[in-house]
Amino acid sequence: MDLGKERAAMVERQLRRRGIGDSRVLAAMGEVPREAFVPEAQKRNAYADSALPLSHGQTISQPLMVAMSVEALQLEGHETVLEIGAGSGYQAAVLSKLAKKVYAIEIIPELVQHARHALDSLGIDNVELICADGRKGWPEGAPYDGIVVAAAAEEVPSALVDQLQEGGRLVIPVGGKWGQSLQTLRKRGDKLETEELCRCVFVPLVYGS
Ligand code: SAH
Repeated sequence: MDLGKERAAMVERQLRRRGIGDSRVLAAMGEVPREAFVPEAQKRNAYADSALPLSHGQTISQPLMVAMSVEALQLEGHETVLEIGAGSGYQAAVLSKLAKKVYAIEIIPELVQHARHALDSLGIDNVELICADGRKGWPEGAPYDGIVVAAAAEEVPSALVDQLQEGGRLVIPVGGKWGQSLQTLRKRGDKLETEELCRCVFVPLVYGS
């Protein structure tokens, strides 16, 4: 099995042909080996057009969802970004190619450990992984040019809006357990411009202590 070929095919069939147009996003996802982030038993499915199971009932998002979320941030390479729900670390690895500095928060310690190992093994050194409740954001790294949330929220956590730079974008699945709307919110003074990207199903954000 040639995973490099499968990765290229994933970029072409699952992303480009379905409307992902940002060449930097396509290049980043053509570069990051998804197989380094999925559990051993799932390696042969690494380029499946679906979410894949991680431990602790969590999932690594479908490639198209990762591409849509990171594309919506409209990154150029000089930004500081925050990811909530780092899971396997795959999306953080993709973001590491698109922004200058990435803070990635994950609430489950074992997943943080695995993600850290995977990122280290690829020599990715601009991602800071943090084990914490991401609903509070991460004030230490704020303000952020972009924030991407990889778990569903009933309501947009206000801390995330507070930690967003003026003009910055927050991408977040908003809604209940069974389905959400993936939204981009752009901070303009006191206002938030909201755009709906698509319907989606993410695992819920859990409440930390
Ligand atoms: N972006 C991930 C997919 C994540 S799935 C990837 O590329 O693999 C959503 C993740 O959000 C899960 O790992 C879950 O543990 C985490 N999560 C849920 N609630 C959270 C919270 N309050 N703070 C931080 N992480 C949270």
